[in-house]
Amino acid sequence: MDIQNFINGQYVDPAGGTWLDNYDPSRGKVYGRIPDSDERDVQKAVDAAKAAFPIWSSMSAQQRSEILIKVSKGIEARLPELAAAESRDNGKPLKLATRVDIPRARDNFAFFATAILHDSSDTHDMGESGFNYTLRRPIGVAGCISPWNLPLYLFTWKIAPALASGNTVVAKPSEVTPVTAALLGEICNEAGMPAGVLNIIHGLGGKVGAAITEHPEIPMLSFTGGTVTGQTIARTAAPMFKKLSLELGGKNPNIIFADCDFDEMLKTTVQSSFANQGQICLCGSRIFIERPIYEKFKEAFVERVSQLTVGAPTDDNTKIGALVSMPHLEKVESYIKLAEEEGGTILTGGERVQLEGEFSEGYYLRPTVIEGLEYTCRTNQEEIFGPVVTLTPFDTEEEVLNMANSTSYGLAATIWTSDLKKAHRVGSKVESGIVWVNCWLVRDLRTPFGGMKNSGVGREGGFEALHFFTETRNICIKL
Ligand code: NAD
Repeated sequence: MDIQNFINGQYVDPAGGTWLDNYDPSRGKVYGRIPDSDERDVQKAVDAAKAAFPIWSSMSAQQRSEILIKVSKGIEARLPELAAAESRDNGKPLKLATRVDIPRARDNFAFFATAILHDSSDTHDMGESGFNYTLRRPIGVAGCISPWNLPLYLFTWKIAPALASGNTVVAKPSEVTPVTAALLGEICNEAGMPAGVLNIIHGLGGKVGAAITEHPEIPMLSFTGGTVTGQTIARTAAPMFKKLSLELGGKNPNIIFADCDFDEMLKTTVQSSFANQGQICLCGSRIFIERPIYEKFKEAFVERVSQLTVGAPTDDNTKIGALVSMPHLEKVESYIKLAEEEGGTILTGGERVQLEGEFSEGYYLRPTVIEGLEYTCRTNQEEIFGPVVTLTPFDTEEEVLNMANSTSYGLAATIWTSDLKKAHRVGSKVESGIVWVNCWLVRDLRTPFGGMKNSGVGREGGFEALHFFTETRNICIKL
């Protein structure tokens, strides 16, 4: 299966005529090719996006909203096809893609399509001397770059607000999981989106991503991916004074107090550790357990985790699918080895799983639980981004906050307690942009989403996302 770039409403081959292999991680085999695009393809996309900007930005919010609602409905209409494509491209269980990834891509469009109908801007009244009013207008061509873990879900999380606020877009999905993004072009055409409003260029980060980042006619960049890539992008974009939204890596603490609802906590903690093979930026990878329930938790958790079915993504019983690529599997395994060198004990998992038949060469790893590590060691400080968690006991609130806040990251945290005061206290002190109390990954798309410290700059979601993609202008009127 070959996919093509989507420029000016048409599917086209890359300018250089070269292609990259696309792997099916569940089978460990190449199953298609994607364009190995370069700066020439990005230039064509920018030209198309610039030409489309006057048409798109001058439409009323109502007109743009109607087209974006049709995109949302187009995603819904093709949900089974998109879910199957996502699962095959990424290795995630088909059930997960069907229940979470694709519905959320649909909702991203519906949410921002309707949000623009309710937005307003400010006035600041100076009484008899005059007043100010604030305009927020679209800027031009937005660059959107996204990762492989939640491919269409995160791709649309950027594109939808960029388009809704009246910008045109040059977007690059991850080269590891490009297929659903390629299908989105068809859906946009069917929805009646004018040519050039959304352009999708496939290829490597160092070529396509860099060309988008460097392009002088792309004044704003929304990026989700690794912290090191975010640093590279920031280094290029900062001297050009581009607007930047960076959603980066995490090393999230899951803080479990002895007074929590144990059963509810246990069930959710299995999910928050291993959903999507632990490849969600919000997964809690460092589990801190208050000492009185440490042994009880360890025993129950390890038992549950060891029963999770690792299997083919198409199988309904599968809880853990394939990791996204062989290099990623090897990276995760290198951290398991490091954990052992650092003195950790593997309580369950740690080894690959070989399935039968057509899936025998897929990238499967048993979910892994490790204990006995210092909170300061590399395993507990660096992002692994796979099905690996560590267990650490704690005695006091102060101690657990110190351990939780000890990494350079600050994306998400989970707190389990029945003591409301404690939840507020710890929630306000844990250095995370997103804190869940007695739950995980409960999402309201209106809320600010993003990280502190090396987990990012800026917030997505709600009006924050719409405002990121606009330029604010204050007009002062003297009476
Ligand atoms: P990555 O940084 O390798 O790649 C992300 C995207 O950036 C890809 O499209 C890639 O091609 C592109 N890219 C790579 N080098 C580039 C460059 N020099 N210039 C411009 N673009 C470039 O990340 P990944 O491995 O795809 O994704 C995993 C990472 O994403 C993890 O660190 C994870 O925590 C993070 N993530 C964060 C969030 C969040 O919301 N904070 C969400 C999902 C994933």
